[in-house]
Amino acid sequence: MSIPVLAMTASDFSSAQEVRWCPGCGDYSILSQLKQALASFGVRRENIVFVSGVGCASRLPHYINTFGFQGSYGRAPALATGVKLANPNLQVWVVMGDGDACSAGLTHLTHALRRNVDLKILLINNEVFGLSRGQQSPTSRVGTCSKTSPDGSVETPLRPVSIALAAEATFVARTVDVDVNHMSEIFEKAAMHRGSGFVEIYQNCKIFNDGVFEYATDAVIKTDSIIHLEHGRPILFGKDRNHALRLNGFEPEVVTLGQGITMDDILIHDERAAEPTLAFLLSRLVGPQFPECLGVFRNVRKPTHQQLLDAAFQQGDPPRAFESLLAGDESWTLA
Ligand code: SF4
Repeated sequence: MSIPVLAMTASDFSSAQEVRWCPGCGDYSILSQLKQALASFGVRRENIVFVSGVGCASRLPHYINTFGFQGSYGRAPALATGVKLANPNLQVWVVMGDGDACSAGLTHLTHALRRNVDLKILLINNEVFGLSRGQQSPTSRVGTCSKTSPDGSVETPLRPVSIALAAEATFVARTVDVDVNHMSEIFEKAAMHRGSGFVEIYQNCKIFNDGVFEYATDAVIKTDSIIHLEHGRPILFGKDRNHALRLNGFEPEVVTLGQGITMDDILIHDERAAEPTLAFLLSRLVGPQFPECLGVFRNVRKPTHQQLLDAAFQQGDPPRAFESLLAGDESWTLA
């Protein structure tokens, strides 16, 4: 069943709840851009559901005037999978923070992605536990000083985009809270995607990890420290766009055009490559040795979880509709 298209504005998606993030929190920008994007999709509010867990980012469903559900810590992808199975016509968004998604919720996240459930999963990453007041999180970079790492974190951080790619997510992207145009473009692409759409958003926690993404937000610094991935285009960066990435065997390296290096040497970004190895390599680039990538890493079509289930049930003996399982009265007694 197709979802009717309506003319709406961002204010149609504002709830009556008072927004209670700290002044200067990057979540404000994300909320604002998300409401703009939702209005542009023309999907009725009653056909949209936001599901979250626990953390600063997980308050977001309260501030959006759609259906919403704030569940338990890390379980949002599992809850959202149930919502989508129960009503495949809904557009279902999941909002997670890095603590929520990458600690207790990591298995739920990866299984939703590998199943290709038609969800749009936003992982708002500030590399710190904010709601519980400033402990290092699974994504905190080495050297991060926090209440639980006063001399600097010594632990290797998880890289959410790498995890999503390893889990076979069919749409994987990264954006940053202050770049509203880029964020909007990525939200739109994620919404258009059918299957598991995963978006990591670098978000500034003003209170506990201020400035951690300055290299990706400062207008002067970011030209040398950020690559904007463009499908089918050579991977260039720098103020004069004369720096580039190339492969030396299996190793990426930064080169400068014009010193015996031509465009023929440069890596071309292919977000639709069936094999995600190159996307995975790009997801692992971190400073200061490399610039970091923003944009779409992977965007491929595969049957969704629902389509696979429908096909399996129709081939059963006797064939039956998936809904019959949900409506069934079978039960098990555990000894
Ligand atoms: S603690 Fe950090 S992430 Fe949480 S609301 Fe405050 S600034 Fe935002």
